[in-house]
Amino acid sequence: MNKIQRIGIVGGGLSGLALASAASKKGYEILLVEKNNVLASEASGNSLRIIHGGLRYFQTLNFERIYHSVKAQEDLLTRYPKYISKLKCTLLLPKNLIIPSYLLTRAYNLTSCLIAGHSNGATIETNLPFELNKRFTHGLSWNDATIIDTNGLVDSIKDEIKGQILLNTQGISFKSKNVLLTNKEELEADIWVLMGGPLCELSSRKEHCYGWNLIFKSDKTCAIGAKSNGRFLFFVSRENQIAAGTWYTKDYPTESQINQAKQEITSLLPELELDKFIKAEVGVLPGITPTEKIEILKHKTHIEVITPKLTTCFHQAQLVLESI
Ligand SMILES: Cc1cc2nc3c(=O)[nH]c(=O)nc-3n(C[C@H](O)[C@H](O)[C@H](O)COP(=O)(O)OP(=O)(O)OC[C@H]3O[C@@H](n4cnc5c(N)ncnc54)[C@H](O)[C@@H]3O)c2cc1C
Repeated sequence: MNKIQRIGIVGGGLSGLALASAASKKGYEILLVEKNNVLASEASGNSLRIIHGGLRYFQTLNFERIYHSVKAQEDLLTRYPKYISKLKCTLLLPKNLIIPSYLLTRAYNLTSCLIAGHSNGATIETNLPFELNKRFTHGLSWNDATIIDTNGLVDSIKDEIKGQILLNTQGISFKSKNVLLTNKEELEADIWVLMGGPLCELSSRKEHCYGWNLIFKSDKTCAIGAKSNGRFLFFVSRENQIAAGTWYTKDYPTESQINQAKQEITSLLPELELDKFIKAEVGVLPGITPTEKIEILKHKTHIEVITPKLTTCFHQAQLVLESI
């Protein structure tokens, strides 16, 4: 294969941007195409914005994923301290918990030492700052991180990219391995990487689901997770808002599904006022339910990347660069 100098990337979400930044650092020239007129306006812009790295993934006992999330969190906090900050999360524990919470805390701290080389410092929280459903009496707290300014983060990553970013490119197809056709022009690169998400016309992943959060006006500052209907629902405060989620549906959420979700929220946090509801933030994800694994698929004309989370977008970029 000829030496690769110019990498073409389809999709200007956080995955495409992270790859463009990582590749620029390695000396590649970038040509990034985005169909919208704003970067990171699809799944990346509608995400709950938690940079996971703590207790959340312990429920799956997927230690490789925990390791990479912890490392990604540390890396992002160091690289973008203006746009990503620590987020104290509290996982609500039910009254009738079988395992005593002090054992849970120790097990978590020990495991995070073994996996990540340090403890993320879980503590038991009894003084919760809001009125809870009576099922929950206390919680387990640890530090995750959150994106506090998505636009700032995007601009900062954009500054690291050496090459060209083209916005508003509609309709794509490959003329050959190196030439991508858009409605406007022919674009050439030594290799093309598809990071357009599941609705991109060239995606081989035909199944997708909608992920959505509900946004409420609120001046509470909290980040909590509670088990509800078999999975964790998170409440994360932003400036004068709380984002709650995430729900997953096969189709774009209907009004009745949103109303049902609002009921689920108030049954967990009765204090949250439903009349302060602002909007639903909706994004599209690969698979019928969200995938857990980064997938790098090699097609005849291009490489395609299936992304599970924004947390590990730079780790994913590294894997893509190693594969080309
Ligand atoms: C509601 C919700 C909550 C979430 N919460 C979290 C969370 O808290 N933490 C976490 O780590 N992850 C979370 N995720 C997952 C995370 O948001 C996604 O995994 C991540 O943002 C995917 O980034 P991406 O760049 O691959 O996709 P996207 O951000 O969707 O970017 C794909 C880009 O490709 C562009 N594109 C598509 N087709 C074309 C084309 N033909 N030509 C040019 N451009 C094209 C799109 O316009 C888009 O900008 C959440 C997702 C959702 C939906």
